[in-house]
Amino acid sequence: AKADPILVADDVSRSFGGIKAVEVEHLEVARNAITALIGPNGAGKTTLFNLLTGFDQADTGRWSFDGQRAEKLSAARAARAGMVRTFQLTKALNRMTVLDNMRLGATGQQGEKFTVALLPTLWRAREKAITEKAMTLLERFKLDTKKDDFAGSLSGGQRKLLEMARALMSDPKLIMLDEPMAGVNPALTQSLLGHITRLREEGMTVLFVEHDMHMVRHVSDWVVVMAEGRIVAEGPAHTVMHEQAVVDAYLGSH
Ligand code: ATP
Repeated sequence: AKADPILVADDVSRSFGGIKAVEVEHLEVARNAITALIGPNGAGKTTLFNLLTGFDQADTGRWSFDGQRAEKLSAARAARAGMVRTFQLTKALNRMTVLDNMRLGATGQQGEKFTVALLPTLWRAREKAITEKAMTLLERFKLDTKKDDFAGSLSGGQRKLLEMARALMSDPKLIMLDEPMAGVNPALTQSLLGHITRLREEGMTVLFVEHDMHMVRHVSDWVVVMAEGRIVAEGPAHTVMHEQAVVDAYLGSH
């Protein structure tokens, strides 16, 4: 058991038809650390993210976030509690500007559940503060010059940065990134890794899904390996990579 985990989950399961996509007995995510969740295609990583963040309903399972029971929280409530995630397929609303995408991040609405109808409410409340915060974050992610462009006009890598920036608008304690480096060019990958490390320096907890186990070596404090819905190994990157169960999981998938 970890000293002060921000997330603790037990007996989390989810089946689709006859297939057990997730069957996790126990998961702890250490606070203020970077944890990588890796595993071959179809291992259940995204499904586990969906369950924990209220985007899908678990068949069984209990989990707590930051000391509070969290298994019944909707996605928006989980975000307000401080648990925010990004998506594998970026859902930045393509026909909205970069700045409006950021402003919506402040509402705690996430992913496909974003709605433009929320903006007017936001205006009346805290427009100036929210816009200032959005611009500060856009500068940090070098997207400030793109603020009036449609999100759909950004490159794939820039959209990954926007997703991360937008997730930060609601001041999360735990940020869950689903394949932040997938399809991103090498230069931008380095930049993304730098941003992830900075989040930890600022006191946040990061849990990210990554398909490529070599990618996680430099950036994660702890690696959790999933295969066929289960956690098959965990530990520091340099040791876990060599465990037989991990080698088997990856070899078995090709
Ligand atoms: P990848 O790296 O390919 O995204 P993953 O580890 O994230 O893989 P999941 O996407 O969680 O894996 O999929 C786990 C299993 O659950 C797979 O067998 C997948 O086909 C199945 N699955 C996931 N979502 C659904 C769904 N909505 N309906 C039916 N089956 C699903």
